Amino acid sequence: MDLDLVFLGTSGSVPTSRRGLPATLVRRGGERLLVDCGEGTQRQLLRSTVGLVELPEVLLTHYHADHYLGLPGMLKTFALRGREVPLTVYGPPGLKDLFGGLQRIFGKLTYPVELRELTEGDTLDRGEYRIVVFGVSHGVAANGYALAELPRPGRFDVEQARALGVPEGPLFGRLQAGEAVQLPEGDEVRPEQVLGPPRPGRKVVLTGDTAPAATVLEIAQEADLLVHEATFAEEERLRADETLHSTGAGAAALAEAAEVHMLALTHLSNRYFGPEIAREARAVFRETVVPRDFDIIDVPFQERGGPRLVKAGARPAREEAGVDGGHGAGDGGGRSHRGGGDPGDPALGGDPVGASPGGRAASRGAR
Ligand SMILES: [Zn+2]
Ligand SMILES: [Zn+2]
Repeated sequence: MDLDLVFLGTSGSVPTSRRGLPATLVRRGGERLLVDCGEGTQRQLLRSTVGLVELPEVLLTHYHADHYLGLPGMLKTFALRGREVPLTVYGPPGLKDLFGGLQRIFGKLTYPVELRELTEGDTLDRGEYRIVVFGVSHGVAANGYALAELPRPGRFDVEQARALGVPEGPLFGRLQAGEAVQLPEGDEVRPEQVLGPPRPGRKVVLTGDTAPAATVLEIAQEADLLVHEATFAEEERLRADETLHSTGAGAAALAEAAEVHMLALTHLSNRYFGPEIAREARAVFRETVVPRDFDIIDVPFQERGGPRLVKAGARPAREEAGVDGGHGAGDGGGRSHRGGGDPGDPALGGDPVGASPGGRAASRGAR
């Protein structure tokens, strides 16, 4: 069963020429879960190898504008295309109020939208996995979401099965499924005779915006992948504390303590490019990555090597070649030295919430 994450927007608060506002698509088998839907997400989907598919579910972490403003536009586009597939939107309490306001923007839709408010401790049971809702520390009603697979049956020992006289064929399958079987000669073989110990399922944890929090530490224990925000670097530690965000090093310390297999940092302030956040985090926790928009993190089972970052994995080949580079702003998938947020970035010109002349984002920048 394939499991991966497509990073569609890795900036926090304001977009940059390189990074869109928060949106991460979780894909498991044929299922698609969009976590947050910052402004521009529908276009990020269109620009990616995913396309603007009729997503059945959107999970919002909280209602700061950078996390949901993409939703009304995307819902409207679906309606203009005559979508009929129902959509469920999940979020912390306040979701129904929020939609009361948004409804005026997107008007009447061609498909049903169900709104489900979730709080810490709620779980969505999906058969082979669960979505666990956990609280975070961001000063407003805010959820983190963990996708946790149930343990898988142990490895089937073919040699042992043969030694016990089980003929190859349907009986193998029934033993693998945990059923005791009767051999033609009359002996019974029980599954525990031929199956190894149960193997852990995978766990992927997405925090949304938060200061380092005990609740995250708890849920992230031994996670395959922790996607944690790192709005700031340590040089802005005070500001991170004041605004209930994290620094690269702060998130890395938590990842280290939780013994996760990989840490992915996102929601970067527009003054950072990425590498400086990665450097400070890796000094604390080596298995840290800072994905760019359109990167993918593939999460195979641990026995197949654990998570790996696929750079530009969701960027169509023609964009990778730089055709979409526009005004030389370096949107070419990682070859340019330009990052997202320096004050001279033409894409930020005149934006009062962007960067001040000193290179510091304005005080109300981080949402
Ligand atoms: Zn926020
Ligand atoms: Zn945010």
